[in-house]
Amino acid sequence: MKTFFAGIMTLLGSTNPEYNMSTPQDEWKKKLTPEQYSVCRLGATESPFSGKYNKHYEKGTYVCVACGQELFGSETKFDSGTGWPSFSDVKNNKNVILKDDYAFNMHRVEVLCAKCGSHLGHVFDDGPGPSGKRWCINSTSLDFVPAKETK
Ligand SMILES: [Zn+2]
Repeated sequence: MKTFFAGIMTLLGSTNPEYNMSTPQDEWKKKLTPEQYSVCRLGATESPFSGKYNKHYEKGTYVCVACGQELFGSETKFDSGTGWPSFSDVKNNKNVILKDDYAFNMHRVEVLCAKCGSHLGHVFDDGPGPSGKRWCINSTSLDFVPAKETK
Protein backbone atom coordinates (compact mmCIF):
# COMPACT_ATOMS: atom_id res chain seq x y z
CA MET A 1 0.00 0.00 0.00
CA LYS A 2 2.86 2.33 0.80
CA THR A 3 4.32 1.98 -2.68
CA PHE A 4 0.86 2.59 -4.14
CA PHE A 5 0.64 5.97 -2.42
CA ALA A 6 4.22 6.81 -3.35
CA GLY A 7 3.27 6.13 -6.96
CA ILE A 8 0.25 8.43 -6.76
CA MET A 9 2.35 11.19 -5.20
CA THR A 10 4.91 10.86 -7.97
CA LEU A 11 2.14 11.11 -10.54
CA LEU A 12 0.71 14.22 -8.89
CA GLY A 13 4.13 15.79 -8.63
CA SER A 14 4.84 15.27 -12.30
CA THR A 15 1.81 17.19 -13.56
CA ASN A 16 2.45 20.73 -14.74
CA PRO A 17 1.89 23.12 -11.87
CA GLU A 18 -0.82 25.70 -12.41
CA TYR A 19 0.75 29.10 -11.82
CA ASN A 20 -1.51 31.40 -9.84
CA MET A 21 -1.74 33.67 -6.79
CA SER A 22 -0.74 30.92 -4.40
CA THR A 23 2.40 29.85 -6.24
CA PRO A 24 5.27 30.30 -3.76
CA GLN A 25 8.11 32.71 -4.55
CA ASP A 26 10.57 29.80 -4.77
CA GLU A 27 8.56 28.32 -7.64
CA TRP A 28 8.59 31.64 -9.48
CA LYS A 29 12.37 31.82 -9.09
CA LYS A 30 12.64 28.46 -10.82
CA LYS A 31 10.16 29.25 -13.59
CA LEU A 32 11.17 32.81 -14.46
CA THR A 33 14.45 34.30 -15.64
CA PRO A 34 16.10 36.66 -13.10
CA GLU A 35 14.89 39.64 -15.16
CA GLN A 36 11.33 38.31 -15.36
CA TYR A 37 11.39 37.59 -11.65
CA SER A 38 12.47 41.11 -10.73
CA VAL A 39 9.81 42.74 -12.95
CA CYS A 40 6.90 40.33 -12.46
CA ARG A 41 7.35 39.41 -8.83
CA LEU A 42 9.27 42.37 -7.38
CA GLY A 43 7.64 45.14 -9.43
CA ALA A 44 10.79 46.41 -11.15
CA THR A 45 10.57 48.37 -14.41
CA GLU A 46 12.65 47.49 -17.45
CA SER A 47 14.74 50.25 -19.04
CA PRO A 48 12.81 52.16 -21.70
CA PHE A 49 13.44 51.09 -25.31
CA SER A 50 15.08 47.88 -24.03
CA GLY A 51 12.07 45.56 -24.25
CA LYS A 52 11.57 43.12 -27.06
CA TYR A 53 7.96 44.16 -27.65
CA ASN A 54 8.43 47.94 -27.70
CA LYS A 55 8.54 48.04 -31.52
CA HIS A 56 6.67 44.83 -32.15
CA TYR A 57 3.58 45.06 -34.36
CA GLU A 58 2.70 41.53 -35.41
CA LYS A 59 -0.91 40.39 -35.15
CA GLY A 60 -1.68 38.33 -32.11
CA THR A 61 -2.23 38.31 -28.39
CA TYR A 62 0.04 39.39 -25.58
CA VAL A 63 -0.20 37.07 -22.58
CA CYS A 64 1.23 37.07 -19.04
CA VAL A 65 4.74 35.62 -19.22
CA ALA A 66 4.30 34.01 -15.82
CA CYS A 67 0.92 32.26 -16.15
CA GLY A 68 -0.18 32.62 -19.80
CA GLN A 69 -3.33 34.64 -19.12
CA GLU A 70 -4.48 36.71 -22.14
CA LEU A 71 -3.89 40.41 -21.51
CA PHE A 72 -3.72 42.60 -24.62
CA GLY A 73 -4.55 42.29 -28.30
CA SER A 74 -2.18 43.57 -31.00
CA GLU A 75 -5.01 45.71 -32.44
CA THR A 76 -4.85 47.99 -29.40
CA LYS A 77 -1.06 48.39 -29.41
CA PHE A 78 0.36 51.77 -30.36
CA ASP A 79 3.65 53.63 -30.25
CA SER A 80 3.48 56.03 -27.32
CA GLY A 81 7.12 57.08 -27.70
CA THR A 82 7.75 56.21 -24.05
CA GLY A 83 9.91 53.18 -24.80
CA TRP A 84 7.49 50.66 -23.35
CA PRO A 85 4.83 48.60 -25.12
CA SER A 86 1.64 50.65 -24.94
CA PHE A 87 -1.95 49.58 -25.41
CA SER A 88 -5.16 51.61 -25.65
CA ASP A 89 -7.22 48.87 -24.04
CA VAL A 90 -7.04 45.62 -22.16
CA LYS A 91 -8.50 42.44 -23.64
CA ASN A 92 -10.72 41.79 -20.66
CA ASN A 93 -10.95 43.96 -17.55
CA LYS A 94 -11.35 40.82 -15.47
CA ASN A 95 -7.86 39.67 -16.48
CA VAL A 96 -6.11 42.50 -14.67
CA ILE A 97 -6.12 44.00 -11.19
CA LEU A 98 -5.60 47.73 -10.73
CA LYS A 99 -3.89 48.98 -7.61
CA ASP A 100 -2.99 52.46 -6.39
CA ASP A 101 0.76 52.95 -6.38
CA TYR A 102 2.31 55.83 -4.43
CA ALA A 103 5.97 55.01 -5.10
CA PHE A 104 8.31 57.89 -5.99
CA ASN A 105 5.94 60.41 -4.36
CA MET A 106 3.39 60.25 -7.13
CA HIS A 107 0.11 58.54 -7.65
CA ARG A 108 0.03 55.97 -10.43
CA VAL A 109 -2.20 53.00 -11.05
CA GLU A 110 -0.33 49.72 -11.08
CA VAL A 111 -1.50 46.90 -13.37
CA LEU A 112 -1.25 43.32 -12.12
CA CYS A 113 -2.21 40.01 -13.70
CA ALA A 114 -5.49 38.91 -12.11
CA LYS A 115 -4.57 35.24 -12.24
CA CYS A 116 -1.06 35.14 -10.80
CA GLY A 117 -0.55 38.62 -9.36
CA SER A 118 2.47 39.43 -11.51
CA HIS A 119 3.38 43.08 -11.93
CA LEU A 120 2.75 44.15 -15.53
CA GLY A 121 3.12 47.93 -15.60
CA HIS A 122 0.94 51.01 -15.09
CA VAL A 123 -2.13 52.56 -16.70
CA PHE A 124 -2.42 56.30 -17.39
CA ASP A 125 -5.26 58.58 -18.50
CA ASP A 126 -3.58 60.12 -21.55
CA GLY A 127 -4.23 57.43 -24.15
CA PRO A 128 -5.32 58.09 -27.73
CA GLY A 129 -8.26 55.67 -27.99
CA PRO A 130 -11.93 56.08 -26.99
CA SER A 131 -11.13 54.74 -23.51
CA GLY A 132 -8.51 57.47 -23.03
CA LYS A 133 -6.27 54.93 -21.37
CA ARG A 134 -2.61 54.23 -21.98
CA TRP A 135 -1.57 50.83 -20.68
CA CYS A 136 2.19 51.08 -20.25
CA ILE A 137 3.46 47.51 -19.88
CA ASN A 138 6.91 45.93 -19.48
CA SER A 139 7.93 43.67 -22.38
CA THR A 140 9.46 41.44 -19.74
CA SER A 141 6.02 40.71 -18.27
CA LEU A 142 4.64 39.67 -21.65
CA ASP A 143 4.77 36.76 -23.99
CA PHE A 144 3.38 36.92 -27.52
CA VAL A 145 1.09 34.43 -29.21
CA PRO A 146 0.93 35.13 -32.96
CA ALA A 147 -2.52 35.15 -34.56
CA LYS A 148 -3.25 32.04 -36.56
CA GLU A 149 -3.15 32.56 -40.31
CA THR A 150 -6.69 32.49 -41.71
CA LYS A 151 -6.82 30.91 -45.11
ZN1 LIG B 1 -0.16 36.01 -14.79
